[in-house]
Amino acid sequence: MTQVGVIGAGIAGMAVAARLQARGISTQVFEAHGKIGGCAGYFRRQGFSFDVGATTLVDFEPGGVGDELLTAIGMTPPPGEALPGYMAWLPDRTVTLHRDPARWSAERLARLGDSEGHRRFWALIDRLASAFWVASRKGIRLPIQSVHDVLHNLGALGLAQLPLARYLTWTMGDALRHFGLRECQPLCALLSMLIEDTVHGTLDRAPLINAALGITIRGAGLTRAAGGMRGFWEAFAAHYRGLGGDIRVNHRVTRISGRKGAFVIHTTRGDFQADQVVCTLPVELTQAIAPDAVGRALRRKAERDASARGGALITFLGVPEEEVSGQAFTHHQLLQSYDQPLGNGNNMFISVSAAGDTVSAPEGCRAVMISTHCALEDWEGLDDQQYAMQQRAAGERLTGFARRVYPRLGEQAVVCETGTPRTYARFAGRPRGAVGGVRQTLWNSNQFAIPHDIGVPGFILAGDSTFPGLGTVAGVLGSRIAADKILAGI
Ligand SMILES: Cc1cc2nc3c(=O)[nH]c(=O)nc-3n(C[C@H](O)[C@H](O)[C@H](O)COP(=O)(O)OP(=O)(O)OC[C@H]3O[C@@H](n4cnc5c(N)ncnc54)[C@H](O)[C@@H]3O)c2cc1C
Repeated sequence: MTQVGVIGAGIAGMAVAARLQARGISTQVFEAHGKIGGCAGYFRRQGFSFDVGATTLVDFEPGGVGDELLTAIGMTPPPGEALPGYMAWLPDRTVTLHRDPARWSAERLARLGDSEGHRRFWALIDRLASAFWVASRKGIRLPIQSVHDVLHNLGALGLAQLPLARYLTWTMGDALRHFGLRECQPLCALLSMLIEDTVHGTLDRAPLINAALGITIRGAGLTRAAGGMRGFWEAFAAHYRGLGGDIRVNHRVTRISGRKGAFVIHTTRGDFQADQVVCTLPVELTQAIAPDAVGRALRRKAERDASARGGALITFLGVPEEEVSGQAFTHHQLLQSYDQPLGNGNNMFISVSAAGDTVSAPEGCRAVMISTHCALEDWEGLDDQQYAMQQRAAGERLTGFARRVYPRLGEQAVVCETGTPRTYARFAGRPRGAVGGVRQTLWNSNQFAIPHDIGVPGFILAGDSTFPGLGTVAGVLGSRIAADKILAGI
């Protein structure tokens, strides 16, 4: 019998499985789709390979959260491009989000304001980010569930940083008001864009510490693997299999029954037994397929989080190289209007495959992914014709906005497709097509997040419904906590 059955082969599931397998625990991963990767996966079209969601890995550089994973499983980092930064295009200015801390410090003051308030604000953000990136890299565990967790977190954060705990009750908006900056339009706009992308929240609701981590991911390091997510997953799957791990794609899990030591994982291709289970699906799916005790344990938090969901649109373009020439950076984030709400192209991310990356695009071409947030309701209740029209219009809108950066983008596109919430529902099994975990607030994150251990013996959760939330770095940190829980209990 397999010791641990892992449900879902996204970043969270694959990371937990590899960690356990590397520690000598036999694992089997069950994935509904034909490929692994989930929202950080890829698909192939006419010689191109497109990333379906995540295009960059966060904090996979030496010493980072991702590097800790690779070290724990004995894997050599796959080749890739450490992005030097990217360009944010606000309606009236550009801001270069340099990875280099000194250049970023100078740029933000020069482009977003250089008052005493600005300097003190950035000093606080830097201090919080530095302390909590260190704590993340040391595996901080939330929500705290035991005295052991308290001691572990004190070690991860360090006693000297304890005074920072007072900011646990602040939002980013509180910090901006404290320094008299809440009305500073370009600063607030850029922060809003970065916070929506990383903690799926807004200035006035996003927890300050989470937001400080989110807006400093460039400093932590963004990497684009050679071959994009396809390059990453091919290397990761080969390593996991080399450790003896077993990936079962096209195995949708329909039900999990039994108890610790005798779970049965029912799939569309037969039943499998496991001593313990790690479920990395969105919480609504977990509730639907897990034993009743899991559903009961999750009910209140799942109900609380049901309305804090959002979706994404993403346009995939395979284009001749000359359509994306003339820019120093391959990644850009754009805001069209200060006055309109974010989403539907007003805050969108452009990611272009690297020159010479012939896994992502045929010789002389590049793969381009343009993504933005959207409301789920806008994509519900449409008939096929309405859907097709809305999908085409969304693709045209995103491509049109992206021409601010690449004026000829899409003129000679070899591939042009747009993913919507329906796409994420179909290919990644996301309920209603929601992606990115909850929109984080003080009351649904950190100590109030869905824990990995919900008190059902042998049944552990991971993935972007649980602490710390969305993103590859979050999935990897959560996988460490989940694997530790299994290791402690086995
Ligand atoms: C447009 C977009 C852009 C993004 N950009 C970035 C970025 O640049 N950097 C970054 O770090 N993050 C980014 N993210 C976020 C990141 O992709 C996600 O937070 C992360 O991939 C979620 O991983 P997960 O393992 O928690 O969930 P998932 O990726 O959803 O994995 C769950 C897996 O479970 C499978 N599954 C579902 N139901 C079943 C079932 N019944 N049986 C078996 N398997 C099942 C699914 O097919 C899926 O593979 C982006 C997300 C989106 C949508």
